Amino acid sequence: MLESDLKYLYEIQKLDIEIDGLKENLESVPKRIKQLTLDLEKHKSSIEREKNNISELNAKKKESSKRLENIITGLKKNLNKGKSVTSGREGEALLNEKTHLEKDKAMYEDRLQELDDSIKKGKLNLSNLEDSLGDVIKSTEEDIKLYNKKKKELTKEIEILDDKKKRIAVHIEDTTLIKKYERIRLNRDGIGMVMIEKPICGGCFVKLPYQLYSDVKLNEEIHYCEICGRILYWKGHIDGK
Ligand SMILES: [Zn+2]
Repeated sequence: MLESDLKYLYEIQKLDIEIDGLKENLESVPKRIKQLTLDLEKHKSSIEREKNNISELNAKKKESSKRLENIITGLKKNLNKGKSVTSGREGEALLNEKTHLEKDKAMYEDRLQELDDSIKKGKLNLSNLEDSLGDVIKSTEEDIKLYNKKKKELTKEIEILDDKKKRIAVHIEDTTLIKKYERIRLNRDGIGMVMIEKPICGGCFVKLPYQLYSDVKLNEEIHYCEICGRILYWKGHIDGK
């Protein structure tokens, strides 16, 4: 009987909406797990990057320290040579050299100070990153476990609803009706049948012609929205009016 067929089909539509929502949720699980894994990898690579940065800074520091040492040696030599100057020209050259060496000394001292500051900053950053890594690993593992649990739950829920759908479908006498419904659903965002309570399509929200609205209310045959093609079902039939 058409009336009960439509009523059952409407039950199927309600279940399909629920199933679609669950499936969407289910599909997002692997993406979320992937994101969590990526975030953890990012954290780990930040640690590696900071370690490299510190070792580069240390190498620069070593290099600058060596230069500073040479400059200090040079200044000592310059001082000693000054003790035995024989000509004014020699004295001038030594003074010139001393000025240059002192300028270089100041420059390398500044550079070393800057490098020390950067190393200190880098070490602090590294220790913060290393301290929080354990927590990040732990929370990532917990979240992944939760997502996997959720995945199982959703799969189970979908199975139950699918089963319910099958049990309802056997009551529908006109088997082509389900096929028609499925085809519309596929092309119309998962909604193949809409319930109406006023002369407006519940799917595309376009006003229904008065004659069509009256015919739908009569419930003697299947009616479709002239715009979106969805099966129309009058609310009164559910309410028993
Ligand atoms: Zn419509």
